[in-house]
Amino acid sequence: MPAGQPPNLHSVYMRGMHPIGAECLACHRRALIPADRLGTCKGDMRAIDSLRLVCSSCGARDWEATVFNAADEAEAWLEGLVVSPMGGRPTF
Ligand SMILES: [Zn+2]
Repeated sequence: MPAGQPPNLHSVYMRGMHPIGAECLACHRRALIPADRLGTCKGDMRAIDSLRLVCSSCGARDWEATVFNAADEAEAWLEGLVVSPMGGRPTF
């Protein structure tokens, strides 16, 4: 995807409906959200960041979305491992 363009729901669909990562910008809590809970579908160009999510830990509404190419990338991200954008092994 072009740099500077926020991921959208269509890109979640195209990558295989893996969970997306949501990180709270206030307390940095991380959670995975199943793609089917987002109501995403082909051609849905809404930015993921436009979804109204509230951190269940601190109540903040500012969060950052991360889109994954594979389910194990999502697991690694949740555990705080850094996933290489080149698709390599998680490093720490
Ligand atoms: Zn929070």
